Amino acid sequence: MDTKPERTIVITGGGRGIGRAAAVAFAQRQEQVVIIGRNERRLRETAAALGPRVTWQQADVTQREQIQAVVTTIIAQQGGIDVLVNNAGTSAIPAIKTDLPIEEAEHSWDAEINIHLKGSFLMAMAVAPHLPRPGGRIINISSIAAFTGGSSAGGVAYAAAKAGLIGMTYGLARELSPQGITVNAIAPGFIAETGFTGAWPQERVQRLIAQTPVGRAGSAEDIAAAIVYLASPEAAFVTGEVLHVNGGALFGH
Ligand code: NDP
Repeated sequence: MDTKPERTIVITGGGRGIGRAAAVAFAQRQEQVVIIGRNERRLRETAAALGPRVTWQQADVTQREQIQAVVTTIIAQQGGIDVLVNNAGTSAIPAIKTDLPIEEAEHSWDAEINIHLKGSFLMAMAVAPHLPRPGGRIINISSIAAFTGGSSAGGVAYAAAKAGLIGMTYGLARELSPQGITVNAIAPGFIAETGFTGAWPQERVQRLIAQTPVGRAGSAEDIAAAIVYLASPEAAFVTGEVLHVNGGALFGH
């Protein structure tokens, strides 16, 4: 049973983009939010801008020791963790095409798997023992790329990692749902103007919008709304699911 008066929401990659929008949404709902990332200045500025309900912890989610340390600190400071949002990710890893030298391809593969799959696994392992039973929530941010292979060539490792995250979601849901913890994934489509997509060429942006039945790019707030829903008590009967939020882009015209 959740005995804390307010829930504590931990959001990896909460310093900008989708994670920041989720932090805003939870803070507006009077939740306590802890954002995690590597860039201290960005975390500090985001937390200051969002007000006293949002605090930050610096950690690289690919590093087990750092994760263990911040989770211990958060438990001590907040008294528990109710919701984990595994959102941290990056587009800064070199693309893998099949003409890439295999050594470089391996390097990119390992980097993609580390941040987009292993980081979420480690966070789930560190946080799960502390989640309330019933009431705990794990929400993994996957991607439409898990289903399409990515919106351009070169995304093979990213797509594989995001697909792996869905398998991990199912596995965790199978173990934790009987204890009252729901585990779900969200698969966003193209979300514009985040750190991930902000530097994409206009040609790619326009192509993706043209492929989207609702006729626009997604916003970070579109994904934040889905995160808030899956974290809510109203979603207690939803577990082991993938929520597609993509303006119909997977369904297609
Ligand atoms: P942003 O680049 O805006 O945000 C990513 C966040 O992740 C940053 O705050 C960054 O903080 C953090 N981060 C990156 N690496 C690490 C790390 N090793 N440890 C801790 N934090 C880390 O991207 P988005 O908001 O667009 O992406 C959020 C998630 O949504 C990602 O998982 C992405 O794959 C997914 N997604 C995005 C889509 C899009 O179109 N934008 C579409 C589908 C999925 P810092 O640099 O400080 O570490």
